[in-house]
Amino acid sequence: MVESTRIVLASRPAGAPTPENFRIETAEIPAPAEGEVLLRTLYLSLDPYMRGRMSSAKSYAEPVEVGAVMVGATVAEVLESRAPSVSKGDVVLAYSGWQTHDVAPAHGLRVLDPAKAPVSTALGVLGMPGFTAYAGLSRIGKPQPGETLVVAAATGAVGSTVGQIAKIKGARTVGIAGGPRKVAYLNEIGFDVAIDHRAPDFAEQLAAAVPDGIDIYFENVGGSVAEAVYPLLNNYARVPVCGLIANYNATGVPAGPDRLPAFYGRILTKSLTVRGFIQSEFVRELYPDFLREMGEWVAGGRVHYLEDVVHGLAAAPEAFIGMLEGRNFGKLVVRVAD
Ligand code: NDP
Repeated sequence: MVESTRIVLASRPAGAPTPENFRIETAEIPAPAEGEVLLRTLYLSLDPYMRGRMSSAKSYAEPVEVGAVMVGATVAEVLESRAPSVSKGDVVLAYSGWQTHDVAPAHGLRVLDPAKAPVSTALGVLGMPGFTAYAGLSRIGKPQPGETLVVAAATGAVGSTVGQIAKIKGARTVGIAGGPRKVAYLNEIGFDVAIDHRAPDFAEQLAAAVPDGIDIYFENVGGSVAEAVYPLLNNYARVPVCGLIANYNATGVPAGPDRLPAFYGRILTKSLTVRGFIQSEFVRELYPDFLREMGEWVAGGRVHYLEDVVHGLAAAPEAFIGMLEGRNFGKLVVRVAD
């Protein structure tokens, strides 16, 4: 028997999650059966979608039950294997959730090659968030040379990759982020313009940054950023709706007048394409291309990535709460074990 330390959902949040919504526990896990492996978590990914899983509201995935381990992608070391496809000592991409150890079927695991890239990148630029950027752009955003793309949460795992892929495709890129440190980083990694959405004159700065209008708005946030973007969209602009993090902790509809008629009006009169997506929709079709192409871009220094690493499983709740407030700087991962 191996003891696993895990963080479970203690209660469902009303509004922003608090530390009291999580509880740390230990549990004994059984030895692996035939076809299974025993895993020790090295890294845990913290992602905005987990806020949705904490809620019982109907969504595209089942909620985490109260008392159950919080879900999440992990990079783990195989301590014991009872499957031919995976060996003891392998480092794998798994989905063990917020816990130090797990027993899992081997067939869902991807063996990582630490010689190709740091293994933590399988949770970020070379994993689900990087793929989200890649798929949303290649299937919906479709940036063309000379077009203008705008993306918010632009220093994050998805947004930074969106901006850099669009730049490779020849687009002019405008990144939006919270605070001067993040804005400086966007300039460093090659965004044409970087803007702080917390600036009092944010909407004016954005309008000045896009003299030819906006052809692609990669929607990561919604809220006041989206409101400033929509009047600037060009005819035939594309809006891959990837995330709406400004709404994730909302407990009701936003204050003010009903904006839906104006929103539909713009879709109609400007012939906009507004298309929501969940990245998993494109995995079968695009994942091998993504791994090859993004692997080359990262190895060749054409796509940069930033990781925000917090240490120890116990730090996960606070780090996760902070991410929903913009306190992370780069892809948020927890270093669970060395
Ligand atoms: P990030 O690393 O970008 O972290 C979230 C960031 O969102 C924060 O750092 C903060 O950045 C920004 N943010 C938070 N609140 C607001 C707000 N009110 N207004 C503007 N920005 C805000 O996360 P990810 O890269 O992992 O995810 C980015 C988005 O992509 C999320 O909406 C997520 O849900 C979505 N997503 C969707 C997927 C899909 O399949 N559709 C898959 C993966 C992610 P700052 O300080 O710069 O404002």
